Amino acid sequence: MGERLDGTVALVTGASSGIGEATARALAGHGAAVALVARRKDRLDTLAAGIEAGGGRALVIPADVTEPDQARSVVDQTVADLGRVDTVVNNAGVMLLGPAADAPLEEWERMVALNVSSLVHVTHAALPHLLDAAERPPRRVADLVNISSVAGRVARSGSGVYNLTKFGVTAFSESLRQEFASRHLRVSAVEPGAVRTELTSHLREEIRLQATKRFSAVEVLEADDIADVVSFVVTRPRRVAVNEVLVRPTEQEL
Ligand code: NDP
Repeated sequence: MGERLDGTVALVTGASSGIGEATARALAGHGAAVALVARRKDRLDTLAAGIEAGGGRALVIPADVTEPDQARSVVDQTVADLGRVDTVVNNAGVMLLGPAADAPLEEWERMVALNVSSLVHVTHAALPHLLDAAERPPRRVADLVNISSVAGRVARSGSGVYNLTKFGVTAFSESLRQEFASRHLRVSAVEPGAVRTELTSHLREEIRLQATKRFSAVEVLEADDIADVVSFVVTRPRRVAVNEVLVRPTEQEL
């Protein structure tokens, strides 16, 4: 049984679908006020309405976090409207697989912009607030959770730039973890295997068919399974830091 998050504020990027949506809902269920960030405002509005109907508090912040100014302003707006930031879940990401030889450069640039640059900008803006929250009641601990991937631990042919971004997220998380350990800012990397979300919908058709085929015999994870993991990480007592969680579908080998 984890601790409650009442009186704390969580910011979740990519909250309009998949893992981010499930995580925001879960954190609200644990008592956090949640700032919901993504580009599709209608989806965020629906999620916020559901959270508020359940007695929670949600702030909708439509933004494209690949724009550095918008990445900073989602943090500023969260602090202005909800008062603080105790938890950041850097979740927004895109996976555009395919052979390097004929890859559109634009796909590589999109992955670097979202999976790396936007995460860096949100983190940079949030750090002072997380460090401040880590010194204050109710919990005197703060959490930065970065959603990496199995692709941040295992490189595969056809996944080079996605691997590049996710290995980077895992390494960045570990470096920050060491730097802020003594200040009670916990930094964690969550590394999911295949999860049923909209992630593969952005792939080119032939690549999407290959990706679907790869997991056709596997019962993949649900977004709620990863929301459970993030909830576990951030509801530990102050003395417990879960640094890294690699979580695959039972039947996924690589
Ligand atoms: P989804 O495609 O369902 O969710 C991606 C989210 O990112 C959406 O909410 C999307 O919202 C948001 N997003 C995309 N571009 C931007 C942008 N420029 N600014 C703000 N938000 C943006 O996929 P998942 O839930 O699967 O992905 C979440 C994370 O999990 C990613 O980092 C992914 O790499 C990681 N992951 C997923 C796995 C899987 O199998 N599904 C496995 C391992 C890791 P909107 O379009 O409204 O902006």
